[in-house]
Amino acid sequence: MSDRRISGVGVTPLLGVGTVVQYDSAVDLDDTERSAADPETERQRFEEARETAADELARERSRTAERVGADEAEIFDAHQQFLADPQITDGVETAVREDGLTAERAVSRAFEDPIARFEEADGMFAERADDLRDVRDRLLRILLDRDRVDLSALPEGTVLVAERLTPSDTAQLDPDAVAGFVTVEGGRTSHAAIMARSLAIPAVVGVDADALDLDDGTRLVVDGTTGDVTVDPDADAVAAARESSGATVRHDPVTTVDGRHVEVAANVGTPREAVAADERGADGVGLFRTEFLFLDREAPPDEDEQYGALCEVCETFAGSRVVVRTLDIGGDKPIPYVDSDPGDNPFLGVRGVRFAPGERPELFEEHVRAILRAAAGPAQLAVMFPLVSTVAELDALLDDVSAIAAELEEEGVDYAVPELGAMVETPASVFLAREFAERLDFLSIGTNDLTQYVMAAARDDDRVASLHDPLHPPVLRAIARTVEAAHEGDAWVGMCGEMAGDPDFTELLVGLGLDELSMSAVTVPDVKAGVRDVDDESAAALAEAALNAETREDVRALID
Ligand code: PEP
Ligand code: MG
Repeated sequence: MSDRRISGVGVTPLLGVGTVVQYDSAVDLDDTERSAADPETERQRFEEARETAADELARERSRTAERVGADEAEIFDAHQQFLADPQITDGVETAVREDGLTAERAVSRAFEDPIARFEEADGMFAERADDLRDVRDRLLRILLDRDRVDLSALPEGTVLVAERLTPSDTAQLDPDAVAGFVTVEGGRTSHAAIMARSLAIPAVVGVDADALDLDDGTRLVVDGTTGDVTVDPDADAVAAARESSGATVRHDPVTTVDGRHVEVAANVGTPREAVAADERGADGVGLFRTEFLFLDREAPPDEDEQYGALCEVCETFAGSRVVVRTLDIGGDKPIPYVDSDPGDNPFLGVRGVRFAPGERPELFEEHVRAILRAAAGPAQLAVMFPLVSTVAELDALLDDVSAIAAELEEEGVDYAVPELGAMVETPASVFLAREFAERLDFLSIGTNDLTQYVMAAARDDDRVASLHDPLHPPVLRAIARTVEAAHEGDAWVGMCGEMAGDPDFTELLVGLGLDELSMSAVTVPDVKAGVRDVDDESAAALAEAALNAETREDVRALID
C-alpha cells in the first residue's frame, strides 16, 4: 500500500472513506464526422435527442425532488429552459441547414457563444455556464448513443472524482451512498461546495489534475477539513480517519467554561437546509440567504411564495432567532432575469442593497412585506441588510421598513417589526459600525466579503487565495473594531462568513467578543464543542496577541 497524498481545498469539514468512481461528463467529438449528407436527417436526429433529453430531465427532476429536496430539483427546470431556448435551437438549425454540419457538431457550435458569455461574467454566471455545458453534453451523449453514469445511483462508498461537478450533478448525489467527492475545479464558496455542505458530503476541490488518472476502485480518504486526499491508505490510516469523524450533535445552547453564552447558528438558503441545520443542533438561523429563493427560475417568486418559504424556516426554528438577509443579488450572485448590468467589476458594482431597493424598489417592497408578515409567526425573526456602506443608505432602508410596516397596518395584514441589523462586509461599514449600531439591534460580520474588500483579493480567484484569508491581521483588526463599536452602540454582533464555521478559529472569535457565530450546518456540532472548551481569559489573551501580530503566519502559529 502506498500513502500518497493529494492536496486541495477542503469544503465540507467531514471525513469520508471510499473507492474512486471517475466521472467525466464531457463528450469528445474528435472521432466524429464533421459534415452530413442530408440536413433533414440531422435536424430530425437533433429533435429526437432533444425529446429524449427532456424526458431524462423530467425523470431526474422527480428523482431529485424525492431524494434531495424540491428546491434542489428546480435546477432541472432551468435545464429544460436551456433545452428549449431559441438561441440554441435556431443555432443548431442554422449550422445543420446552412453549414451542412452533423447534429453533434451543430449542437457543439450552438452552445459555444452562450457558454463563453456566461464564463466571461465569472462568479455565479460561470456556474450558469456549467449548466449550459451540462445540457450540451447531455444532447451530445444521446446523439452519440453513449452511456452515462447515473449520479443518483452510485454504489455505496463511492468517492466521485471529476474535473468539475455542476450544481445539478451535486444535487443528484445521494449522501447515504457517496463517501465524498474530489474535483479539480471549484472553490470554497462555489455553489457546488455550498450544496455539498448542505448535503453533508465530505468534499475537497481544487486538486491537481493528476487525480483524474486514479483508477476506478482505488481507495481514498477524503478529509474535507484539511483538504487532504490520501490514496491507498493503510488500515491504520483508515481506522484513525473513522475515529476522528464521529462528531456528536447537541441541541442545547452552549456557554464557555466561564458561563458566557455564544449563540451557534446556521447559514441556510432553503427551508430544506433549515431542517438539516436543526438536525445538526443549530440554535437558530444566523443567515438566511434569501437570494437562493430567486435562483434557477424565470421570474422572481411573488410575495406569497416568499412568505411561504420564510414561514417554513420559521416553523422549523419556532421559538429561536431566524436572521433573514434581504436580497443579496449581484457580485457572484447575479440573477439573469432581473436584467441588471453587472458592470466591469460586479463585486464593486450594483449588488446587495444597491440592487434592491436601489435599482428595484418594487422587488424590495414585495420582499420586505413577505418578511414582516413572516415575523408575526413562531420564530424570533430578525432582518439584516447586505452591503450597506453609508449612514444615508441605512437611514433610507429603515424608513422603507417603517413605510412597509405602515402599509401592512393600514391593510389590516398580520405582521411584526423584527429585530433590525446590517451586514458588515465593507471597510466603510467597519468605520461606520458605531453609527450603524446606534440605529440597529445587531451587526453581522460577513468575512467572505469583508476579507475580499479589506485585502483587495477576489473571493473567487484562486490566484489570490493566500490574500483572501481572514487571518490576515488587517481583517482581524476590522473584526475587533466592529465588535467594539457594536457593543458601544448597544447592539449584539455576530459573524456569518465562512470563518465562523472553522472550529480552529472558535477560541479566537469568542476572545474577540462575538456574541453569535453562524455557519454551514455541518460544522455546528464542532463549533459548539469548541465554545464549551473556551476559557474566557485565555481566549481574550489569544485575541489580543492575534491583534498585535504582524502576519497571518504569526496568527496561525498562535492558534496552533
Ligand atoms: C459574507 O460575505 O461573508 C457572507 C456571509 O455573505 P455571502 O457569502 O452570501 O456573500
Ligand atoms: Mg457577502
